[in-house]
Amino acid sequence: MTGLLFIVAAPSGAGKTTLVRRLLEEKTDIALSISCTTRPPRPNEVDGRDYHFLDESRFRAMIATGDFLEWAEVHGNFYGTSRRFIEEARRKSDVLLEIDWQGAAQVKKVFPDAVGVFILPPSLEALSERLHGRGTDSAGVIARRLAAAREEMRHMADFGYVIINADLNTALAQFASIVEASRLTLSSQQKRHPDLFHNLTSTSL
Ligand code: 5GP
Repeated sequence: MTGLLFIVAAPSGAGKTTLVRRLLEEKTDIALSISCTTRPPRPNEVDGRDYHFLDESRFRAMIATGDFLEWAEVHGNFYGTSRRFIEEARRKSDVLLEIDWQGAAQVKKVFPDAVGVFILPPSLEALSERLHGRGTDSAGVIARRLAAAREEMRHMADFGYVIINADLNTALAQFASIVEASRLTLSSQQKRHPDLFHNLTSTSL
């Protein structure tokens, strides 16, 4: 099979990570792409689970050898998606990428059928509150992320679907609907069930 690619982007603080985690608990047949980054780990993060944490020289070497399907600089750090991981994972299941708009644009160029989902906060006030509530970043970092969030939101037009995350359970149900609808398009169904389509359309009884 060739699994679908779901690209999920959001301004920092829109609740993307929680929403993605809950979706993947529900839909265990979607693989999450673990990105590489040069950002230092936050206290609760685990190498290999949240990210592959690399130093900059290693990251640059991986750019040079074409290891990344996409990469971008976000908030002063590098982030990238492993090309090999995506290729291998798609042979077994659908794959979800949690990346920024710059990366999303690069993936869309290579895979125009990728399903883009943009997650919005219900208001700018809610976004600001959530950024402060995280408690792991300094005031300077928060101010930078708020500015970056507004920049990120300017690119939502590149995404096919938008979820407004006012209530987690509602947003989760909407996200699950997007996944199911994407799996039910004619081209998805033909890819998932080639034998059935062949039999139904070309075998005479
Ligand atoms: P954070 O440092 O808060 O985990 O992530 C910061 C931003 O980097 C988020 O918008 C996140 O989606 C983005 N990001 C994470 N991994 C990747 C990646 O592999 N590629 C790109 N382009 N962006 C990423």
